[in-house]
Amino acid sequence: SEVALEELEKVCRLGSGSSGKVYKARHVHTGAIYALKIIQEKHDAQVRQQIKREMEILRRALNPHVVRCYGVFDRGGEISFVLEYMDAGSLADVLAAHRRIPEPFLARVAAHCLQGLLYLHKNKIVHRDIKPSNLLINRRREVKIADFGVSKVLDSTLAQCNSYVGTCAYMSPERFNPDAQDGHYDGCSADIWSLGLSLLECAMGRFPCLPPGQKPDWPTLMMAICMGDPPAPPADSSPEFQSFIRACLQKNACLRPSAKHLLTHPFLTKYKEKDCDLSPLLKSLQL
Ligand code: ATP
Ligand code: MG
Repeated sequence: SEVALEELEKVCRLGSGSSGKVYKARHVHTGAIYALKIIQEKHDAQVRQQIKREMEILRRALNPHVVRCYGVFDRGGEISFVLEYMDAGSLADVLAAHRRIPEPFLARVAAHCLQGLLYLHKNKIVHRDIKPSNLLINRRREVKIADFGVSKVLDSTLAQCNSYVGTCAYMSPERFNPDAQDGHYDGCSADIWSLGLSLLECAMGRFPCLPPGQKPDWPTLMMAICMGDPPAPPADSSPEFQSFIRACLQKNACLRPSAKHLLTHPFLTKYKEKDCDLSPLLKSLQL
């Protein structure tokens, strides 16, 4: 199921991030639609090699809750990824269209993302960049994890991290001070923190770690996340949601439950049986 880069034509731009641009693309023969992510920054050969190595991992990651990668190409240093097209955009897009996202939808997001994380963690892959813009949705209401590997390279040092505050904002406290980690710690629990923080942001309608309106610069963020108490869920949210968020946002990484454990959490089972009507949410995404 390899897709040749030369057989794709760009349809339109879907978005852009710190690392590159994402286009909607059509396969000229089959008409199939893909997302084409192009990293146009000129990284040195070593970084490029690392990006490609990690993307090879992604290409082998086959799970219904991980965005499929159909090919990685290097054309004179410009790296392109052919990805599964997620036609409802990202959780960040949903959040931009709705002030706050209701719990039934968040329970679905949590369930799907935890299944994706369970698969990755089982295969010894730590995502390290879980945040609303990397959680993608399609019209079948499936939620999938996107974009691992690339950012893992790009934010591998704190100095580089400085220019990617958007990514650092979702980093767990222990990742700000990797030297202080104990030897048994495997990093998977950092993804659990980031997922909890992303879901809390969706419930609150703003980034939870800083007061409203506060500019998220690097020192302020680090102080808030490492020195402050973990952000608390809204008092008017359900007890199950509050318990889920508190479990994810424990500063001691060893105390955070695994993806497998969280999949049995009451917050997920609470909404599982009910067939919630999520169409008002998705309608605004022009599906
Ligand atoms: P950052 O650079 O900080 O990671 P980001 O995640 O928004 O930010 P990109 O990963 O480049 O940056 O993605 C930009 C946007 O493109 C996303 O917010 C999303 O709306 C869209 N996008 C990315 N991948 C896909 C995809 N596979 N299908 C559909 N849309 C996508
Ligand atoms: Mg992204």
